[in-house]
Amino acid sequence: MSLTGKTALVTGGARGIGRAIATRLAAGGARVIVCDMQTDDGSLVVDDIRKAGGDAHFLRLDVSDPDAHVSVIDQIEKRWGGLDIACNNAGITGEFKLTADQTIDSWRRVIDVNLSGMFYGVRAQIPAMLRRKGGSIVNTASALGLVGRRDISPYVAAKHGVIGLTKSIALEYGVHNIRCNAVAPAVIKTDFLNTASEERLVEAAQQHALGRIGNVHEVAEVVAFLADDAASFLTGSVYPVDGGYLAA
Ligand code: NAD
Repeated sequence: MSLTGKTALVTGGARGIGRAIATRLAAGGARVIVCDMQTDDGSLVVDDIRKAGGDAHFLRLDVSDPDAHVSVIDQIEKRWGGLDIACNNAGITGEFKLTADQTIDSWRRVIDVNLSGMFYGVRAQIPAMLRRKGGSIVNTASALGLVGRRDISPYVAAKHGVIGLTKSIALEYGVHNIRCNAVAPAVIKTDFLNTASEERLVEAAQQHALGRIGNVHEVAEVVAFLADDAASFLTGSVYPVDGGYLAA
């Protein structure tokens, strides 16, 4: 329970990987603020954490709204005294199309949520961590933040941007005891894959050295380690959670 006494926020915490991160941080002793656009699902996560004996609260947040991040941090500081851990995890895939066929609207939405949304988040979180004299930021990038892929270039571009943002924050705020790292999951079983065909799922499994796709808990475990003081000398790095996807 080394996260006892820490307050953590998790964006996109209502479902999928974010839900697993919120649950894992709470199991580790943190007070967890689940932030998401989906109030019903987010409240269910909070209920489950409380039933398991943890401390959790829901705040509605659309990560593509800069002012909403400021408001969330303001509420966290007023209600719970400060912020120690920020897991910026909310993300969307956008359209699966060749680059020249991508719509401007889809490009803007993917960049807004996945990259600008993360910038708006850290822009509000960092001052709170400076007031707290330290903190840990863990951003959910993707294996597609490290390599390219056909048919999903806005997402690939946004996730490469997330990694650049992560490294820059580490360089800027390391001396203030704020660590900033990213995780880079390969294919993980979540709602992201709801529309994928059986054939696509088999193909996806084969792209990983382990011969299977990952599960949300395998990502949450790495995020929890990076968030924890146990990772006190880790900053500015990207940690693939990829079953060997990037080894080829
Ligand atoms: P998911 O669709 O299961 O969950 C995403 C969550 O983010 C949902 O609760 C959703 O409501 C929330 N969300 C979406 N837009 C939001 C917004 N504007 N503001 C606030 N919340 C918003 O997806 P997931 O698979 O759990 O993905 C989580 C993160 O992991 C994303 O950043 C994604 O890019 C990344 N990722 C996922 C995979 C994968 O295979 N599942 C692989 C690599 C990276």
